[in-house]
Amino acid sequence: MDYRGRAHALRTAMEGAGCEALLVSKVVNVRYLTGFSGSAAMLLLTPGDVILVTDGRYQAQAQEELARSGAPARLEAAPVAEQQDLLSDLTAAFGTVGVEAEHVSWARQRALEQGWGRRKALVPTMGLVERLRERKCAGEVARIAAACTIADRALAAVEGMLEERPSEVEVAVALDAEMRRLGAEGLAFETIVASGPNAALPHHSPSPRRVRPGELLVVDFGARVEGYRSDMTRTFAPGGNGAGVARARGELARISHVVLASQDAGLSAVREGASGGEVDRACREVVEAAGLGDFFVHGTGHGVGLEIHEAPSLAKPSKDILSTGQVLTVEPGVYIPGLGGARTEDTVLVTDAGCELLTMSPKLSQRAAAASWAGRRQGRAPKMAGYGRRVTNL
Ligand code: ZN
Ligand code: ZN
Repeated sequence: MDYRGRAHALRTAMEGAGCEALLVSKVVNVRYLTGFSGSAAMLLLTPGDVILVTDGRYQAQAQEELARSGAPARLEAAPVAEQQDLLSDLTAAFGTVGVEAEHVSWARQRALEQGWGRRKALVPTMGLVERLRERKCAGEVARIAAACTIADRALAAVEGMLEERPSEVEVAVALDAEMRRLGAEGLAFETIVASGPNAALPHHSPSPRRVRPGELLVVDFGARVEGYRSDMTRTFAPGGNGAGVARARGELARISHVVLASQDAGLSAVREGASGGEVDRACREVVEAAGLGDFFVHGTGHGVGLEIHEAPSLAKPSKDILSTGQVLTVEPGVYIPGLGGARTEDTVLVTDAGCELLTMSPKLSQRAAAASWAGRRQGRAPKMAGYGRRVTNL
């Protein structure tokens, strides 16, 4: 991780924003700039200095992590109540100090203004660090890829239990435990397991409801490795011998098909220079052509890194331009209230040639459901060859 290069790039952005110094208060941005992983810290960037301000709880950890990361930052530890005075001392020579406008509470802004009086101007800035974070370096991509691999392996280990009519909670707990066992430091976000009608809720929390054959099951989850996250959704059609897939009601099977086709279109649209809005349009056109446009109720994707949702945005109005080194998701979904839903999501790396999948779990169960719909539509028996006795995506 090139912490020196990051500080240099941020200084350039800071100057462009008209600030002599910049106070970084969003803790994930502090981590990006220093490697410090604690939950309470600020970073003051000046033309000649980078100062990590934290309190006694994190002093030893901060020392250790700064030494490990090699970030060009020095540490100042002070009780929270004394940090304002410390900041006043550290910024005494500067007339303008930038703050991260989206991450400073009203109370904090008032405290800063009162502490600095008329001697200093606070300059609101937006997205200075976030813009630097969009394109990942090789070290960041390696961590995200490691998180994706853990998620893939956890799903492969847990998938067999879907045939045993587990509850949503049981599936979520098993996946979470497996990811930790495989080396994840934590979850990327709260795991979503949504069966039957619950699958019509994009962010459903796992419930005691049991997975039943003939329904769709949406599983959306990720692992965290050194702060970096993965994000993947698979839709399953449980029911041994492929019978569950065949029994999936016609509309559910059709949804499976449409969502897969939509994601394929989205993945094909990801390339250097495309806008987030274009990828969204590519996905949405497929869903709209199937008459299901009203049921695709969220954006197509988002950047992934130290945060689960970060820039760029792949949504209807997004003009964010995709570029090599960004890591993002493509995740169209269709949700029919009362009936169910499907979503397919991969985390991908934008490359010169298009994109590279970082999540690699196969989509055989969903493809089987989709094939059963295509088969029925043509008046033929669904093609189930290749799908084993158990639902298996391997
Ligand atoms: Zn997700
Ligand atoms: Zn996502």
